[in-house]
Amino acid sequence: MCLLDQIPSWTLNESPQYRITCYISYSPCHDCAENLAAFLRENSRVQLRICASRIYKVGEYKTGLCTLQKAGAQVTIMTPKGQHGTHGVQKMCQVRPLMDKEIFRENFHQDRWPHETYLCYEVERLEGDSWITVEELKGFLRNEPKINQFLPANNVDPGRHAELCLLDQIPSWTLNESLQYRITCYISWSPCHDCAENLAAFLRENSHVQLRISASCIYTRGMYGTGLHTLQKAGAQVTIMTPEGQHGTHGVQVGWERPVGSC
Ligand SMILES: [Zn+2]
Repeated sequence: MCLLDQIPSWTLNESPQYRITCYISYSPCHDCAENLAAFLRENSRVQLRICASRIYKVGEYKTGLCTLQKAGAQVTIMTPKGQHGTHGVQKMCQVRPLMDKEIFRENFHQDRWPHETYLCYEVERLEGDSWITVEELKGFLRNEPKINQFLPANNVDPGRHAELCLLDQIPSWTLNESLQYRITCYISWSPCHDCAENLAAFLRENSHVQLRISASCIYTRGMYGTGLHTLQKAGAQVTIMTPEGQHGTHGVQVGWERPVGSC
């Protein structure tokens, strides 16, 4: 509550997007969670990540945390493993944030034209002949609008695309180069030319990583198509989601039936 009291004094600009990350010794109680959730609903320009040393999930505490997550907050727990992470902070991974259903509907239904890009990912490790899910390496992210209040209002600011945000995260996963990994991404828009080139370069430099991208909408015209072919030449699978996948085991639209160019 003291944090919420402080925020008005920050005079956050209305136009850019902000993300507040809190490292807290105890997870929020029900009352605080409700207040934080109300704040997020009223301030769509602000995202909230909470990394707690201890998480209470009993009774009303759990209800409060669920309300907070539904309002878009990420709530995770600190783990000792992350002490060796590249950022010098304890890695957050045990309680995975879930995507809000409305955000999913808005961004992954093919009759919508969302302004932002969401990317869900999961990582598998090859053990013998089987791909085993790496539970702590599942999540989602979205593109980051560039925060630059000095740009004129009519200047389009591309920010950082979701695929590049994913590439930014991968070094912190400290993947073992002697093992084989497969990253599967479910993304609302297929990669642009620049992102496709960056992903392809990553694959060429990291032969221990395979990449599958399943996009809700795929652009194949002009430079977009060139980028996707570069990505495929680097070994990536790029496919479009199909409604048939709604009954998939992950509870999201997943499908590998149609190749690039069929939409
Ligand atoms: Zn891009």
